[in-house]
Amino acid sequence: MTRAAVIHAPHTPLRLTDITLPAPAPHQVRIRLAAAGVCHSDLSLTNGTMRVPLPAVLGHEGAGTVTEVGDAVTHLAPGDRVVLNWAPSCGSCHACSLGEVWLCADALTGAGDVYARTTGDGTDLHPGLNVAAFAEETVVAAKCVLPAPEGIPLTDAALLGCAVLTGYGAVHHSARVREGETVVVYGVGGVGLAAIQSARIAGAGQIVAVDVSPEKEELARAAGATDYLIASDTTAKDVRRLTGGHGADVAVECVGRAATIRTAWESTRRGGRTTVVGIGGKDQQVSFNALEIFHWGRTLSGCVYGNSDPARDLPVLAEHIRAGRLDLASMVTERITLDGIPAAFDNMLAGKGGRALVVF
Ligand SMILES: [Zn+2]
Ligand SMILES: [Zn+2]
Repeated sequence: MTRAAVIHAPHTPLRLTDITLPAPAPHQVRIRLAAAGVCHSDLSLTNGTMRVPLPAVLGHEGAGTVTEVGDAVTHLAPGDRVVLNWAPSCGSCHACSLGEVWLCADALTGAGDVYARTTGDGTDLHPGLNVAAFAEETVVAAKCVLPAPEGIPLTDAALLGCAVLTGYGAVHHSARVREGETVVVYGVGGVGLAAIQSARIAGAGQIVAVDVSPEKEELARAAGATDYLIASDTTAKDVRRLTGGHGADVAVECVGRAATIRTAWESTRRGGRTTVVGIGGKDQQVSFNALEIFHWGRTLSGCVYGNSDPARDLPVLAEHIRAGRLDLASMVTERITLDGIPAAFDNMLAGKGGRALVVF
């Protein structure tokens, strides 16, 4: 029997429930979670912005220890320390054949299947984004786990699986920040903090952090921000003023709102690059006029999972951590238990704190 935080219907709070996991199928493994981060995408899955079959166990940013492996799994064994990968790639679809594994067409195939049942009445449960990390234990496809970097506590490694890969990838793979460039990051949550640290690692000359909350200034500056702005109607102008009147070379939007995307784009220089990491709803329409698209010569791009290849990027991130350049523990502003997830969602909606981490 395993304790899990289960969502039964949209817009309802997660409920702590005892669930029963099956023995791993041939290509599956069972994992005892050490920690799971509470990501904005989990919130988006509860409020209908993103959809999954319900009832479900959410949680997609976790790390733990393998306790059992299916008959066909030969590369993993009980005792292995692993990081969960909610977007595994198949290696053979069109995107994978182009090397763009973050766009794998099969990443969420099977995520709608029943993977466990409630212990009491046997209700079918689905794994939110493949890995169902808001539970003491989970059963996942073997391709959904990656070796955890040696020497890094699993409570830190958990963040690698979503926030850090996404924030780092947005800066390194999508925006391709170069030494000396100016970067503005919108939204100082888990992904935003990872993006700020990654911009610092890339050697950005100036890093402007923007958030609605004055309370996040300290967190942003500790991550490497050189300037901090409270979001307002004049943010784009304020960023231009801070960057010698030109605008930033790069904007990273970690909010997913039309107005913020538009502001991010406007706050870059002529020829600047904006990467949108935040996930917004269908109702968020962003508009541009044809003349300004021509005049400014800017780039606006989407970014999925930081355009990351987790198998390639995790060892690189581990090196940054060991060298002291990337500090994961500082991103965690709250350590909670499974029953603290609804309050962590409320804090996220209120714009409070960095990452909340469920520690098992
Ligand atoms: Zn996430
Ligand atoms: Zn694929």
